[in-house]
This record gives sequence, structure tokens and C-alpha cells, in this order.
Amino acid sequence: MEKKQFKAESQRLMDLMINSIYTHKEIFLREIISNASDAIDKLAYRALTDEKVGLNREDFKIVVVPDKEARTLTVADNGIGMTQEEMENNLGTIAKSGSLQFKKETENADDAELDIIGQFGVGFYSAFMVADKVTVISKAYGGETAWKWESEGVDGYTIEPCQKDTVGTDVIMSIKANTEEENYDEYLAPYSLSNLIKKYSDYIRYPIRMEMEHS
Ligand code: ADP
Ligand code: MG
Repeated sequence: MEKKQFKAESQRLMDLMINSIYTHKEIFLREIISNASDAIDKLAYRALTDEKVGLNREDFKIVVVPDKEARTLTVADNGIGMTQEEMENNLGTIAKSGSLQFKKETENADDAELDIIGQFGVGFYSAFMVADKVTVISKAYGGETAWKWESEGVDGYTIEPCQKDTVGTDVIMSIKANTEEENYDEYLAPYSLSNLIKKYSDYIRYPIRMEMEHS
């Protein structure tokens, strides 16, 4: 399959994420959950005027699934989803954050790195702080097929049609192996995950449920 290249500025941000010495890698979960919530907002808003959506306010949810055996952490939502084009444009490029401009102005300042990640939020790419591969499976509302986007980091991503019955998005993060500096296993442990959700995602207006793949 053809590997597509990231745009230059996305590569820089991703490089920063992958090689991050940042100690609060845990904020990736806040970013991924907030994207799920944004996507649900969009479909919930649509549902107000479009009865074909067929979902009520209380049907929307975010599901977090740690799988210790497969070493994956999945965040699934039943929000608006993404078309192939939206995946290309939105996951392959830097969205609205001003973090890159900020980084340019403060090149090589480690303290500044802490600041950008803390203050601006880095969005989707923060998943690469804890995952060596990220797979996004999504079916857009009104879309015909589902699409699978996959990337192991700076050297690009692949995109192909796949099977998914329900509208929404699954972000599947293949969690890195532990190192001396970082205990990545905690991102597969239900107890630490629920603490992170309480700490960073308490403001989310949709239920966040944890489901165990293996126990
Ligand atoms: P931001 O949230 O600031 O736009 P992100 O890097 O967090 O930036 O996300 C980039 C874009 O990817 C989002 O704006 C959205 O279009 C898309 N996206 C990410 N996650 C999801 C998701 N779970 N469902 C639908 N779209 C998503
Ligand atoms: Mg975001």
C-alpha cells in the first residue's frame, strides 16, 4: 500500500511528540477524549434538526477499552465520524493550535516545550507520545464506507477502506513498551486510566465508560 507523507509542519510536531522528553505524556488521553467529545457534539447538534440521525442526547457516549494482551488502548465514540477526505485533511495536518508557531519562536528551549504542551494542547498527535502505532477507524455520518488510517510516526500514513457498521470513530493506540524513564503500562491499566479520566476529562458532558477487552 502506498505510504503518504505528512506535511512538513505536521512532521515537525509529530517529531516533537515522538521524541518528547515531556514528563506529562498522560495528557494524550485528554486530547483524544476531547476530540471524541467534539465529534459527538457535531452529531448531537445535527440530530436536533435531522431525525435520520436516529440518536438522542442520552445515546451518545465515549468508550475507553484497554487491552493488556494486545497492548492497545482504544477510545471509541459514536460521533460524526470522518470521511476519507476528512481523515487526510484533519489527521494529516496540524489543526487550529498555535503551538507550532510558538515552538518556532522558542526553539531549543526545553521549558518552552513543557509550556506549549501544557497550555495549548497538541491535539491528535499527542497519541504518539505513548503509542508507536496509531490506527483510526472511522465511518462518517452519511458516508458509504468506513476508512482506516494508520501511522507509525514521521514516515507517513496509510489509508484504506475497511469494515465498520456504526457511525463514529475508534482511535486505537498501540502502547509503547516500558522504558526506564516511563511506565507505559499504566495506559493499559483500568485503575490509572480512570484516574486520568477523572483528572483531565471530568468536564466532558458525555458518559465515558471503560470496557475490558481481557481481564
Ligand atoms: P483540534 O481538536 O484542535 O481540531 P486535533 O489535532 O485534536 O485538533 O484534531 C484534529 C482534527 O481531527 C479534528 O479537528 C477533527 O476534525 C479530527 N478528529 C480527531 N479525532 C476525531 C474523532 N474522534 N472524530 C471525528 N473527527 C476527529
Ligand atoms: Mg483536539
